[in-house]
Amino acid sequence: MKALVFTAPGVVEVQDVPDVVAGDGAVIVHVERAGICGSELHGIQTPGFRVPPMIMGHEFVGRTSDGKRVAVNPLSSCGKCELCVSGRTQLCRTRSLLGVHAAGGFAERVAAPRSSLHELPDNIDWDRAALIEPVANAVHAWALAGSPTGKRIGVIGCGPIGLACLEVARNKGAAVIACADLSAERGDFARSIGADEVGASLEGEFDVIFDAVGTATTRSSSVDRLIPGGTAVWLGLATPDSGFDATAAVRFEKSVRGSFAYNDAEFTEAIELAPELDLSWSTTYPLDQGAEIFTALMNGQTAPIKALLQP
Ligand SMILES: [Zn+2]
Ligand SMILES: [Zn+2]
Repeated sequence: MKALVFTAPGVVEVQDVPDVVAGDGAVIVHVERAGICGSELHGIQTPGFRVPPMIMGHEFVGRTSDGKRVAVNPLSSCGKCELCVSGRTQLCRTRSLLGVHAAGGFAERVAAPRSSLHELPDNIDWDRAALIEPVANAVHAWALAGSPTGKRIGVIGCGPIGLACLEVARNKGAAVIACADLSAERGDFARSIGADEVGASLEGEFDVIFDAVGTATTRSSSVDRLIPGGTAVWLGLATPDSGFDATAAVRFEKSVRGSFAYNDAEFTEAIELAPELDLSWSTTYPLDQGAEIFTALMNGQTAPIKALLQP
């Protein structure tokens, strides 16, 4: 089958690879769309979490061999440890991700655990369904922030995760949502789908700030711009540095929370929420063009906001 393979640091190539085989408890999913994630664009430059050769792609939807339309929760966990039992499967010490620890969606077919499949409603097309995974990240971050309905929300970064945070906050009744992005074009787009204020950086104070970038600058700003007692939720993974003012965090009781993925209930909620959101911001490319588009995004091209690959 055809696949986009991460072959060496900073390099992806379209290759013919042996077809996947479904082991015990797994089924074959024929991929319809697979989204390229920012974590992959950063991840392949410093291998470690992802090790080549690897077929990446953790944001994918497709059909089972018997024709069911499904979204796949790419994260599996042991189901037995104290974290899994308490519903925090995303923190399981033996968690594994399709597209990171096992072959993922940048291919014609994927072997996925049967338990990870979620049947899609009829009222969502493939392009929008492919954004369920980023929306699930935002649903989880919203919960970690204490479900701040009626509060002032800041979002740093208007890429897919930032836009998903914006849309979930809008859907769940945030009072005001301000979005920051260095690209004026992306800021304008955020405004067009519901941001009240946009700019290169956040101005004023917020109850909750979602950092969907993850550099020392954005992390520091996510803490500085909080009201006393506010919460910063970090989803972005651009660099390992933090650089925030810990003294202010102590004196003004600011909270900083890391946010990783979602549990299965949040993934299910994202499927239910998706048809109510504006998820028109992806562009679909044939898998054959995967290496070109992946490389262009990795080198800093800001359009499209979200690239989807179609085998
Ligand atoms: Zn992702
Ligand atoms: Zn576990």
